[in-house]
Amino acid sequence: MSQRTLVLLKPDAVKRGLAGEIISRIERKAGWRFAAMELRTFDRATLEQHYAEHVGRPFYEPLLEFMTSGPSIALIVEGENVVPGIRALAGATDPLQAGAGTIRGDYATITRENLIHASDSPESAEREIKIFFPAHA
Ligand code: ADP
Ligand code: MG
Repeated sequence: MSQRTLVLLKPDAVKRGLAGEIISRIERKAGWRFAAMELRTFDRATLEQHYAEHVGRPFYEPLLEFMTSGPSIALIVEGENVVPGIRALAGATDPLQAGAGTIRGDYATITRENLIHASDSPESAEREIKIFFPAHA
């Protein structure tokens, strides 16, 4: 089923020079295409909407601090099964649990700075696309 998903290459990906590598892994998958891409330093209000489900968790404040610390790259990716597909490519939230060959498994070591966000369902994707790319909602 053709879907779309919201991907963020987090500030650590840009800072560490891994954005091209991550984009290239996504681009290599046949049948997926980029519908939008933008480099931007997110403000707190945007991230409060994006991470609303995590308000009150111990990692919430440090997460917002990290996510506003420098530019990220936001993308909309479209294609067959792209929602579970990019979650699989990203690997587990905790990089130590993420498999070899996944983005987090190969390049990240700590849970907060795990390089990439990808929507966890088609419904989340539509909600998140509205936040980061209102013109594409
Ligand atoms: P995912 O990004 O895999 O969907 P979650 O939605 O559970 O993971 O969490 C959102 C983000 O918050 C994670 O990607 C990570 O950056 C951060 N995070 C989650 N859990 C923790 C934790 N226990 N400690 C530090 N940061 C965390
Ligand atoms: Mg999540």
